Amino acid sequence: MGIIYGPVPSRRLGMSLGIDPIPQLICTFDCVYCQLGKKRFKVRSPEEVKEPFPSPDEIASEVKTALQKYEHIDYITFSGSGEPTLNPRLGEAVEKIRRFTQIPIALITNSSLLTRADVFDAAASCDLVLPTLDAGDQNTFVRINRPAYGFDIDTIADAIAKLARVVPIWLEVMLLESEKYGSNVTEEAITGIVEKIRMIQPHEVNLNTCVRPPEEPVNPIPEGKLDEIRIRMEEALPGVTIAVVPKRTKSQSKLLREEEISAEILRILAVRPCTTADLTDSLGINPAEVGKYLARLAEADKITRRVHKGRLYYAINKD
Ligand code: SF4
Repeated sequence: MGIIYGPVPSRRLGMSLGIDPIPQLICTFDCVYCQLGKKRFKVRSPEEVKEPFPSPDEIASEVKTALQKYEHIDYITFSGSGEPTLNPRLGEAVEKIRRFTQIPIALITNSSLLTRADVFDAAASCDLVLPTLDAGDQNTFVRINRPAYGFDIDTIADAIAKLARVVPIWLEVMLLESEKYGSNVTEEAITGIVEKIRMIQPHEVNLNTCVRPPEEPVNPIPEGKLDEIRIRMEEALPGVTIAVVPKRTKSQSKLLREEEISAEILRILAVRPCTTADLTDSLGINPAEVGKYLARLAEADKITRRVHKGRLYYAINKD
């Protein structure tokens, strides 16, 4: 997988040029709702990663090339196939990108490593950080995020609160229910999350639920219930903006040369499964055209079809 993916239509960031700054599917968590499949390696720190990370120069050079190719980018976003803050030179990469573009830089993180000074500084150098916090207590944290050994939700929340004082924070809360793993929408779990948000004082809270098919048996929270939780949080947290993440945003249209489209579809699907509508938005071509490319890729055994909650998704074929 390359360092750059997209631009993809992000439900929160508009057209987002993604940067995947880690060498393989590695993360400090193993969330029950993860869409990246079971090939992830769980590590506690960058020091445990054996493979070399893309360097700041490599990252900056690929971003520069991508910006020459695409007309409209709303955000340059560090995210990708695992936890981006595992890259120990993230801050240097941000600094190098800033030398040639004014486009704001966002960081999507599971928050686990913000307790480290180097990661905190790298996050603080971005324009916007979207940290995840799915639990207000250690028990729920361990059940839903399944962190590597040694992570503590109170310490992580303290680090997010500290970061919120120096950079805008859009806190993402992924809500779900599962017979196997339990839920983070019980009265007790929501109370715990509300207390953490009160302490963090983020600029915005985005309530999300799993709309794409995870590998584990977890269920999304129905829209009505998400709204009830939003109202409850708004009442408990005056002054904090609480939003339910919309299912899909309209994106800017863009044209890709025909020979690039299949490669672009594969790059997007390598990051997450998508519907035809998601790909239509991302590629700026009509659904019938996207369908033709998907059919060809499926025939070549490069992608597979999966139905989740009545919607057809395409995913990269890992076999
Ligand atoms: S933090 Fe993100 S990449 Fe890591 S396991 Fe959770 S969902 Fe997957």
